[in-house]
Amino acid sequence: TAVMEKILLRRSSLLRDQQQAWQESLEGREMLEFRQNLPAYKEKDTILIAILQNQVVIISGETGCGKTTQIPQFILESEIDSARGAFCSIICTQPRRISAISVSERVASERGEKLGESVGYKVRLEGIKGRDTRLLFCTTGILLRRLLVDRNLKGVTHVIVDEIHERGMNEDFLLIVLKDLLPRRPELKLILMSATLDAELFSSYFDGAPLIHIPDALRAADFKDFSRQTQESLSCWNPDCIGFNLIEYLLSYICENERPGAVLVFMTGWDDISSLKDKLQAHPILGDPSRVLLLTCHGSMASSEQKLIFEEPEDGVRKIVLTTNIAETSITINDVVFVLDCGKAKETSYDALNNTPCLLPSWVSKVSTQQRRGRAGRVQPGECHHLYPRCVYDAFTEYQLPEILRTPLQSLCLQIKSLKLGSISEFLSRALQSPKLLAVQNAIEYLKVIGALDENENLTVLGRYLTMLPMEPKLGKMLILGAILNCLDPVLTIVAGLSVRDPFLTPLDKKDLAEAAKLQFSHDHSDHLALVRAYEGWKEAEKDLAGYDYCWKNFLSAQSMKAIDSLREEFLSLLKDTGLIDSYATSCNGWSYDQHLSRAVICYGLYPGICSVVHNEKSFSLKTMEDGPVLLYSNSVNARESRIPYPWLVFNEKIKVNSVFLRDSTAVSDSVLLLFGGSISRGDVDGHLKMLGGYLEFFMQPAIAEKYLSLRREFDELIQN
Ligand code: ADP
Ligand code: MG
Repeated sequence: TAVMEKILLRRSSLLRDQQQAWQESLEGREMLEFRQNLPAYKEKDTILIAILQNQVVIISGETGCGKTTQIPQFILESEIDSARGAFCSIICTQPRRISAISVSERVASERGEKLGESVGYKVRLEGIKGRDTRLLFCTTGILLRRLLVDRNLKGVTHVIVDEIHERGMNEDFLLIVLKDLLPRRPELKLILMSATLDAELFSSYFDGAPLIHIPDALRAADFKDFSRQTQESLSCWNPDCIGFNLIEYLLSYICENERPGAVLVFMTGWDDISSLKDKLQAHPILGDPSRVLLLTCHGSMASSEQKLIFEEPEDGVRKIVLTTNIAETSITINDVVFVLDCGKAKETSYDALNNTPCLLPSWVSKVSTQQRRGRAGRVQPGECHHLYPRCVYDAFTEYQLPEILRTPLQSLCLQIKSLKLGSISEFLSRALQSPKLLAVQNAIEYLKVIGALDENENLTVLGRYLTMLPMEPKLGKMLILGAILNCLDPVLTIVAGLSVRDPFLTPLDKKDLAEAAKLQFSHDHSDHLALVRAYEGWKEAEKDLAGYDYCWKNFLSAQSMKAIDSLREEFLSLLKDTGLIDSYATSCNGWSYDQHLSRAVICYGLYPGICSVVHNEKSFSLKTMEDGPVLLYSNSVNARESRIPYPWLVFNEKIKVNSVFLRDSTAVSDSVLLLFGGSISRGDVDGHLKMLGGYLEFFMQPAIAEKYLSLRREFDELIQN
């Protein structure tokens, strides 16, 4: 270790020389000047002293004041200045991968370096990090995974948790874990950063940790707000459809009449963004690439795509960025002058009583509105158009409910178990704001039913595999079984399809045509298999570069198809990481053409999402055990049928609107449900198979039964060992 110490001291002084050389260069001086003008820079000493004197420090400051890019750098630079740069290891978490990447690039360039020198990033399946990387930006999920193998974060000197005001589930979870860790690692520093002022909650959670607020040096005067109050705007405000016409009108007005400057349009979600984009592309001005650079910004975009957002367009071209709430706080686009705010965001909520998740566009909070507005006029006077009337704004809540209180907790519970954090409910009772007991119980019960936890709440072998796949357990289950049963190809498509927005578009004015188009892909009473066909058709068409036409003709979203394509790759490499398939993935597709097998995999994943089909003379009705009668979404292929030749539907999601609606369903037989629904308690595989065997003779032809039975046996052996 004495040798190590020496090496590190040498590297530290190299780092210091490097930093000094950069700050003395012309570019370096300009960059430093830019940084020194940020409000955060003025608080540099206060911040560093507070960190020195306290184990936990909480810092708040308006978006754009320089928290994310500067504060980690202050720490790094002060370590380097004290000639101990090579001894520190700073981790800064971001809620989203896109911000981790873009921020690390920015910080590296502020330091006159390439990524992978002293600054790096790591997100799922991607990262740049070198031997000398001392400041690492990563997603919250990555840090949680590191804690899995490195409980004490050995060697880490500073953890910075950014964007805590968003109150994402991962961040709330991480804070409980870190709070437990602090006494075990007294020299570890924890810094929390928030874009809003309500940081007292965090301070009291961390035993009165000091709060530092970075005062807002930004303009307020050169700022115009427009509320849409007219009757005409109200009438576009059909709750299901944002005022597309109004947005189109405003955008073309800005393009024709206003001074230069980028426009940022906050939309509800992915689906709205892509439909609006299609609409705008057909517009004579907005769709003209020589006048308008039309970009989109959302969480699942590729990193090459996101770079475009920060670039300045050519002279005479106006940049318009359609974004989800992701650009609200974590991404800063400098040249924005105009903001259009639709006032809504897709928000998941969770009805614990009925154990039903809801995903509905809902009005954002007042704080979000201010954040959105603040994105305009960063470098010159700005304008914000709120596309909703004042009276609607007045009814907004102050803050959004934290995610942990409004989403199902299954994945979180699995994570708690995999980190060996003891009893789930005891652990969650120590959260910043604890979820309802009922919600916790529901999640545990679900995990038991699907076989991820045993009766004593311990992870089963299946559960352990599921923790290696960062996705909803039901999707993880499908991937695992698809890999084991050698029918991975369609399963990858299905799982990817369930992870993106519905690729089957149903424009309101062409609903019938769109539904008819989907029906062409219908395949034996399954929305999931219809998707597989649609995707395969698209893949064929892409070979002739006709993918876009294909989507247009068939009412499919080209963006979703592309997203499915890249997610398939991502999921495949995740599976390789689990060791369930070999790294060449040569042998996992032998049965991919067997649609019955795909059906079995779907059933295995979606159980206990099942409902029974009851036929009457003309049609059929559906019932689930918990809800009684339920309905299908009208764009389900099963909704167009008058008979379904199977007694059950497994479904992906039920959503309560007025009645309970099922989204994406696949019909399955008794035998498939028997074999692939439910779980087998560990150690009693034989008993279970015997019992199923008895049923099988009853339901199935012996030859088929034999095949499934042997597959199941093989599967159970594999999964148990
Ligand atoms: P905060 O975290 O407080 O919201 P940031 O540290 O992200 O603020 O950004 C501080 C400033 O750095 C921004 O106001 C912007 O001017 C500049 N900046 C950040 N990211 C980039 C980038 N990718 N390209 C150019 N400038 C950037
Ligand atoms: Mg930030």
